[in-house]
Amino acid sequence: MLARHHSRMRLRFLGAARTVTGSQYLLETDRARVLIECGMFQGSPHDVLRNRVPLAYDPSTVDALLLTHAHLDHCGLIPHVSALGFGGPVYATRGTVELTRLVLLDSAKLQEEFAAKHQRFARKHPDRAEVEDRAAAAELAAETDEDAEEATRNAPPEALTYLREPLYTTADATAALARFTGIEYGAETEIAPGVTATYLDAGHILGSAIIRVRARDNTGDRTIVFSGDLGRPNTPIIRDPTPVREGDYLLVESTYGGRTHEPQEQAIKLLGEAVSASYGAKGVLLMPSFAIGRTQEIVYELDRLLAAGTVPHLPLYLDSPMATGATEIYRRYAGYFDDDARALLASGETPLDYPGATMVQDATASQALDESGVRPYMVVASNGMITGGRIVQHVKALIGDPAMMLLFVGYQGEGTLGAQLQQGTKQVRIDGEALDVACGVRSISGFSAHADESELLGWLRNFTVAPKMTFIVHGDPAAQTAFEPKVRALGFATTVPRWRETVELT
Ligand SMILES: [Zn+2]
Repeated sequence: MLARHHSRMRLRFLGAARTVTGSQYLLETDRARVLIECGMFQGSPHDVLRNRVPLAYDPSTVDALLLTHAHLDHCGLIPHVSALGFGGPVYATRGTVELTRLVLLDSAKLQEEFAAKHQRFARKHPDRAEVEDRAAAAELAAETDEDAEEATRNAPPEALTYLREPLYTTADATAALARFTGIEYGAETEIAPGVTATYLDAGHILGSAIIRVRARDNTGDRTIVFSGDLGRPNTPIIRDPTPVREGDYLLVESTYGGRTHEPQEQAIKLLGEAVSASYGAKGVLLMPSFAIGRTQEIVYELDRLLAAGTVPHLPLYLDSPMATGATEIYRRYAGYFDDDARALLASGETPLDYPGATMVQDATASQALDESGVRPYMVVASNGMITGGRIVQHVKALIGDPAMMLLFVGYQGEGTLGAQLQQGTKQVRIDGEALDVACGVRSISGFSAHADESELLGWLRNFTVAPKMTFIVHGDPAAQTAFEPKVRALGFATTVPRWRETVELT
C-alpha cells in the first residue's frame, strides 16, 4: 500500500483564509488526517462558487472531522464531503449536534429548491442559462486553475450542467448526520490515531467550542488551538469564552478586527426605546434576526425589559420555524447556560420565553398577521439579512407603512437587501416589484455573537506564553490587516494564511 500520509505534520487552510466564511482546515500527521470544520462559503456569488471547487484532498482518507459550532459557514459542507466519500465520525458538543441537524436539513432543502428553480429557468431560457453557466464555469476555473482561459476553452459543455445540481440533497444531509458523535466540554477524547481533542466553551452560540487538538506522531507532539468563533464576555444565556493559556500553534478568528462594538447596555436601551415607541404609535416593530443565537438573545432581553417594567407589553410573534426549533434545543441544554440564566431558571423564571408570545408555524398565518389590522405588535423573523425566509414577506407588506419600524439587530452583509435598507435607500425591489420605503429604519450594533477587537485581544492575553505561530483566520482582509499588528504588539508571531496554503508544524 502506498504511504497515505506525509512524514511531516502539516496544516492546510482550505477556507476562512482571508474570508469570513468557508471555515475548513486539514491537519495531517504521519498517522492521521483530521478535518477541523467543513463550512460553506457564503456571501457574494464569487465566494459561493468556491463551494464547487474540487476538494483539495481525498475525503475517504480523512479519519475524523471536528466541528466547533452549528453555523452554516462552519458545518455547511459536511454532507457534501460525506457524499464524496468521507466515512469517519464527526465530533461536536451534544448541543451543536442537535443544532447542526436543523441547519443542515434546512440547507439541503434550500439547495434542492434553488437547483429546481435554476433548472426551470434553464428550460425556459436555454440560451441565457448557458451564458450564465459559462460565466460561472470560467470563474470556477479561475479559482481552480492558474490558466483559467485555457481551462474554460477546454471544458466540455456537459461539464457545466452540474452547476445546476444541488450541492447535496436531504438524503446526503441525513446520511452525514448519522456520523455525528456528541462529546462533553472539557473531556479530552482520542478522535484519530495519535490525535486528541478537547472542547472548551467559546461563548458564541449554544454548544460552541474552542477546540484544543493534541497531535502526536514520529516527529513529536504539538498542541494546536482552534479558536472557532469567539463570543463576547457577558452575552446573555450562554457562558463567556474559555480562557486558553497555552498552545504551540493558534488559529484565531478576526471577524471584527479593527472594530469596536457598541456597549451591550446601550443596545438593550435602544431595544427598549423601539418597543415603547412602537407600542405608543400602535405600530409594528419588525426585527430580522438570525434563527440561532440572536433570536434567543433578543427574546431574552425583551423578557428582561418587560420583567423590569422598563417597557409595556407589546405582543410578540416569533416567525421562524428554525428559531423555534433552536429555542427548544436551548431549553434542553440549560446545563450550558451561564450563572445568571441558571439563577433565573432556579427562581422559576423562564428566560427564553416572552409572556404570551405566539410561535407562527405556517407561512399562511405569517402573511395573515400583517393584514389582520390588529395592532400594535412586534415580529422577530428570519433570516437576519432579509435575503430569504419569512422576513421578506413582512418587509414587502409593511415597507410603505410609516407606522412600521424596521429594527436591525444584527450584521448586514454587503449587497444584501438588509444592507440596502440599513443605508437608507428610498426604494427597493422585492419579487420584481418596486416598493417605496416609508417605514422607519433603525439599527442596533451592540448585539453581536462575535468578540470585537479589544475582546479578541483580551482573550489572547490569557496565553502565558505566546504560541510558536498564530494564524489569523476567519476575517476579511481589511479586518485582518487592522488586527495583525495589534496581535504582534502582544509579542505573538503572526501570519495571515492564504486560501489553500499549507504550512508545516515543526
Ligand atoms: Zn458562528
